[in-house]
Amino acid sequence: MLDTNTCHKARMSKDARFDGKFYTAVLTTGIFCRPICPARAPKEENVRYYLSAEQAQEAGYQPCKRCLPELAPNPTLPTTIQALITSLVEGNLSVSELAEKHQLSTRQIQRIFSQELGLTPSQYLQQHRLLKARQLLTGTNIPITDVAFNSGFNSTRRFNEAIKASYQETPSVIRERLSRNLQSSEISILLHYRPPFDWQAMLEFFRLRQLPNIEVVGENSYRRTFTLGKANGWFVVTPIEGKDALKLNVSIDNLRCLDEVITRVRRIFDLDADMSVIHRHLSKDDLLAPVIANHQGIRLPGCWDIFEFSIRAILGQQVSVKAATTLAGRISQRYGSNLENSINDLTLCFPTPAQLANADFQGLGLTNSRMDTLKRWIVFYLEQPKALESFNLDELTELLTAIKGIGPWTVNYLAMRGLSQPDAFPASDLGVIKALSPSLTKSQSTSPNLKPNQNPASNSKASGKEISARAEQWRPWRAYAAIYLWLSLS
Ligand SMILES: [Zn+2]
Repeated sequence: MLDTNTCHKARMSKDARFDGKFYTAVLTTGIFCRPICPARAPKEENVRYYLSAEQAQEAGYQPCKRCLPELAPNPTLPTTIQALITSLVEGNLSVSELAEKHQLSTRQIQRIFSQELGLTPSQYLQQHRLLKARQLLTGTNIPITDVAFNSGFNSTRRFNEAIKASYQETPSVIRERLSRNLQSSEISILLHYRPPFDWQAMLEFFRLRQLPNIEVVGENSYRRTFTLGKANGWFVVTPIEGKDALKLNVSIDNLRCLDEVITRVRRIFDLDADMSVIHRHLSKDDLLAPVIANHQGIRLPGCWDIFEFSIRAILGQQVSVKAATTLAGRISQRYGSNLENSINDLTLCFPTPAQLANADFQGLGLTNSRMDTLKRWIVFYLEQPKALESFNLDELTELLTAIKGIGPWTVNYLAMRGLSQPDAFPASDLGVIKALSPSLTKSQSTSPNLKPNQNPASNSKASGKEISARAEQWRPWRAYAAIYLWLSLS
């Protein structure tokens, strides 16, 4: 629910932390804006607040040409509605198909949409497509014909008509606003976020884990190769000086995949997180509060691809980050494929599930049990490639721990970084145990029963039960708590 008082303060101070969380529509001009709009703020009696750009547009307002609402970061929505939106937008499903897919009734679907978005599914879809088109016109330089297809229109003629009818401007006129934001011959995309965001710290996290020839973390850039279905390519992410946005440059042989690339890159850097809400909740904990205060802009680092990440998570069982990265590098060199149109040091693509189907992993420095786990995992993945899309952590744990060699740590780490699930928590992680042991075992380590020759360090490890109990208060943001616990050790 929107609190008009908060909205008023946020737009008056042009507070970027509220960007994408609400929109201000102006009755006198018929225009709606982001809280960060540089234009003079209208009087409170002349404005109405909306939760989403889709809702403001459905109410008849036009997006502002100065703050470009189509480029605002995405709101943080509950998992259920997020999954419904994804099915609706990507699958182009009717309400009854949507209901069937998500095992809900059509009335439930209608109710969820109206509660969370203030719109019916078909209203949402229609406004979302129009905004998507604007986003690609003002935020990327892909050709206008590709914008039409990428935003879900079947023909350029219908696209042109729809844009003109809604915005009283042609796509090419809207496109002219792009030059203000981007100048590049490659495909460039602006990725906005709500501050705080610590680019250098995020970069450092990926630097320690980079896979040679697949990922290159430079002083101020993150580059990597990728395979997406049949498409291949590479991208570069750099910060934009003075703006709460990153710039993504993509080289791809099939533009239809562009939307997927944008979604995945946003997830790698966790650009849709609402850090103020997460910080407020986790700072109630005495142990986390000082870490958060020192690391305001650190987010939950995600991954490019869940299969690649799953292999890396298995390799990371009980070994250091460095050792796991070395092993993953050897697997990529042996089984990966070369990137066509490679650029400088980006030459290799991580092996696909099919490329690893018959891999024996001999001679790479893996233990026999780790090789067996990898093989079992790959068989499972090839049989059930969609299994990881299940978003219920308990079901996922039950399903995956049935595979020999996969335990709760792997599942939670996979959910946390691989699926960007904010409440996943690797309770048995060595770093988590180390960070929590002093505070959880304070009473024990000073116990008079402690024999003088006993090693207090090994004797004062927090138990899994104690850790899980402590973590309960961090829900639904336990994954972020894990990140802060790791940071508390450095
Ligand atoms: Zn504006």
